[in-house]
Amino acid sequence: MDQLFVPFNDLRPALGAQRDELLAIIAHVLDAGMLIQGPEHQAFEQELAQYIGATYALGVGNGTDALEIAFRALKDGDRRTIVTVANAGGFSTAAARAVGLDVRYCDVDPTTHCLDPDSLESCLNDSVLAVVITHLYGHTVDVKAITDICTLRGIRVVEDCAQSIGARTDQGAAGTFGDLATFSFYPVKNLGALGDGGAIVTSDEELASRVRELRQYGWSDRNVVSSRYGKNSRLDEIQAAVLRYRLPRVDAWNARRRQIVGAYEDASPASVRVLPARTQSHSAHLAVVETGDARDLADHLSRWRVGTSVHYPIPDHLQRVFSTYGDAVSLPVTERLVGRILSLPCFPEMTDQQIAQVCTGLQAYNPDAPSRTAHTQPTPGSHEVHA
Ligand SMILES: *Cc1c(COP(=O)(O)O)cnc(C)c1O
Repeated sequence: MDQLFVPFNDLRPALGAQRDELLAIIAHVLDAGMLIQGPEHQAFEQELAQYIGATYALGVGNGTDALEIAFRALKDGDRRTIVTVANAGGFSTAAARAVGLDVRYCDVDPTTHCLDPDSLESCLNDSVLAVVITHLYGHTVDVKAITDICTLRGIRVVEDCAQSIGARTDQGAAGTFGDLATFSFYPVKNLGALGDGGAIVTSDEELASRVRELRQYGWSDRNVVSSRYGKNSRLDEIQAAVLRYRLPRVDAWNARRRQIVGAYEDASPASVRVLPARTQSHSAHLAVVETGDARDLADHLSRWRVGTSVHYPIPDHLQRVFSTYGDAVSLPVTERLVGRILSLPCFPEMTDQQIAQVCTGLQAYNPDAPSRTAHTQPTPGSHEVHA
């Protein structure tokens, strides 16, 4: 069997398989002659709201704008601080800074790598406007435990669902638990556009109408400015049409992603812990593992011709440019994970052979092996992928 290169991600198989449909969808939009906020956009907003199980969905330009507009919509007088985690890529931090808000970080749970409610209490005071809960890697955080703490103090909750579309528990889908939820349709997300895109979901009518104004010049009506801090951040009609085509397919793609993470979990040696994504409460956006030396595992897997990545290598509070803001913080769990996390290939169009090759590479990993050069010319085994 030839050894393939297994890329960390590759959009070409999906784009190739969908090519004819995508071209027809684009042609349909061109023929209709509406390129911004036309019928496809309106229909997508309705279909997304219905899919999530919320009343309103509003298209915006990307997931970071969604966070920024969410913060603007919540902004209220003396409350000038956003509380979030430092290991989720810095998007909430960038959005908060764009609105002129401060950011305070709390620590993460060592098992899920998501916000640790026990660490939250000490971050909260009367200056906190909102807590951002990132459903990191696709894991649905128990938001209820956090909203209970926040509601008592008049603090709002924003769910960052950029990695968790389609994840749902018995209580509902990720995106239905907070005041507002933000989504990204960046091409490699579980629901991706052919470029940038994003959305804000809420069941609060007043917040929905504020978002509707803020995303388009602050207009409440054509040329009537009612929100002072409006901007322009819209989801294009072509992207909306593409997202309408892809939305009904997300559940099947997520199931395939979970299957891939499950195969890695079964194949991993004791020195590698795969963050599990077995149930529907996980969208399996990323297949993340924790290990003693992530760099060493990445080098090992690259000898097996497997691409990897890190989400994310530098916590926000250790980014030089952010470190001058806010309080000096110590986040022991977040900091301990630096250098220990690695993301493995996980996209729905991976072939069984590619998955098997990653599994064989994982099985062969032994960080204590006396002669690591023994692995320089591996041959893929016959690891079976169970459906
Ligand atoms: C991708 C992502 C974003 C930002 O989305 P963009 O569309 O790239 O702006 C925000 N939060 C999380 C958790 C993400 O993964």
